[in-house]
Amino acid sequence: MSIKAYGNGAKEAVEKAKDEIFKIDRTLDRKDKNSEIFKLNTEKGVKISKDTLKLIERAKAISEKTNGAFDITIAPVMDLWGFYGQEFKVPNETEIKDGIEKVDFRNIEITNDGVILNNNNTTIDLGAIAKGYASDIVANTIKSQGVNSAIISLGGNVMAIGNNPDGEKWRVGIQSPDNSSDYIGIINVSDKAVVTSGGYERYFEENGIRYHHIIDPKTGYSANKGLKSVTVIADSGEYADGLSTALYVLGLDEGIEIWRENRDFDFVFITDDDKIHITDDIASTFETEYDYEIVK
Ligand code: AMP
Ligand code: MG
Repeated sequence: MSIKAYGNGAKEAVEKAKDEIFKIDRTLDRKDKNSEIFKLNTEKGVKISKDTLKLIERAKAISEKTNGAFDITIAPVMDLWGFYGQEFKVPNETEIKDGIEKVDFRNIEITNDGVILNNNNTTIDLGAIAKGYASDIVANTIKSQGVNSAIISLGGNVMAIGNNPDGEKWRVGIQSPDNSSDYIGIINVSDKAVVTSGGYERYFEENGIRYHHIIDPKTGYSANKGLKSVTVIADSGEYADGLSTALYVLGLDEGIEIWRENRDFDFVFITDDDKIHITDDIASTFETEYDYEIVK
């Protein structure tokens, strides 16, 4: 993770932000025995902090919005593939079938002061949204310290606060899915989150097949809808994080449909055949040496 802040109070703001990130990690890491999510996953019904409760509620809303392509109850299937402890394995078909039966965000019930998992096999994993959520909290902390120029990067989740120290928009590179040290383009933003999901971020190979960490809840296998990556640009990091994962699962056509239904975010899709598709509103702020299509 990287946090850069400029101007008066920048040093204190970054220190505070760092503490908050560690706190969020301790609260949400489902493998940490002291976390709220570990407790929820083992006890199935717990009182929970207001912040975590609201986060789970909003995560559910993203599931509804994306027809279940985004689903935080994906945890049992993630465990089958061993992505967490890097003990990768390809599950057999029975395991996959049993696994996806456990995945259904509708089993999460939100009460006044807690969360209930209405199926004993339901467990949750906030990996697709936690970094974006953390970037929102960090942005608020930094701004509340009076700092209005900062850039935060939490593994694929960038949050640009205000303008850069030269008074211009922040230039955020969109990573090449094929070469981690190269960019396919640059997007100029201020006060926006820019979040990328891609199969290239975490994967293993077996018998020449690449298996990556973004799972289609309908199949239990790595999402395979013709995309190399999706970048979502939105006001909220959490929303952009959730959506980038969801749109990666859905693919270009269904992703565009979701965008047309909401129009509260922008995107950059890179397809398997290396075509770039971007929304109309960001065309004037996007720089690239490649051809791209504008979606209206
Ligand atoms: P991201 O890098 O934000 O796209 O999130 C990927 C992470 O989210 C994975 O490592 C899993 O922990 C989790 N995940 C994988 N597939 C899904 C899905 N379909 N819905 C929600 N979370 C998922
Ligand atoms: Mg995500």
